[in-house]
Amino acid sequence: MSELSPPEIAANLACVRDRIAAAARQAGREPQDVTLVAVSKTHPAAAVAAALAAGQHVFGENRVQEAATKFAALRPAHPGLRLHVIGGLQTNKVREAVRVADVIETLDRPRLADALEDAIRREGRTPDLLVQVNVGDEAQKSGIPRAEADAFIAACKARFGTALVGLMCIPPLDADPAPHFAWLADRAARHGLKIVSMGMSADYETAIAHGATHVRVGSAIFGSRP
Ligand SMILES: *Cc1c(COP(=O)(O)O)cnc(C)c1O
Repeated sequence: MSELSPPEIAANLACVRDRIAAAARQAGREPQDVTLVAVSKTHPAAAVAAALAAGQHVFGENRVQEAATKFAALRPAHPGLRLHVIGGLQTNKVREAVRVADVIETLDRPRLADALEDAIRREGRTPDLLVQVNVGDEAQKSGIPRAEADAFIAACKARFGTALVGLMCIPPLDADPAPHFAWLADRAARHGLKIVSMGMSADYETAIAHGATHVRVGSAIFGSRP
């Protein structure tokens, strides 16, 4: 598995941005209303640097330790950099996540909410938070089950106030994602939440058609992962 070169990464980014803009316009939305989160997990800091050089400033990582190592060195030269933690979060990683993340997209259970509240107080730093919903109610997937989503979102809103900014989902792999995307966008609207993070390399245009404000795209930018 070889890493893509900086020009290849820049070309992929340009292509993804064009497709995002086209999908947004097609949906009667503005291209700037959709934020591209470039998912750099498993790829080296050099790949992130290539994306930064191509004007990409928002990144997603699924492992907190990997994110901390990779991004610490890049932050000083790139004050506009925004890091999203998009992977399932164990409670023993929460303090580090609160330290490194600008956005934590994977708030998905009451115990994690407890740990986050504690970590936010201790660190004196509050990342933006998204509730992850297990829209397909899949046993192996993280996310709050659909049936518990409304109560959990309301509880998180009461607890975290304006730091709770949106919802995130990863629909089932083997099904049409559109109804799941539509459901999540509707949920966000009902709760008055502005951010809807959904859509990956295979389905980000569909997600935009259904109201995604953030798409998380990895392999279409950085190439396949080992
Ligand atoms: C890896 C990952 C992505 C990106 O997936 P691609 O198919 O490579 O675009 C998006 N969201 C989450 C939560 C991920 O773990």
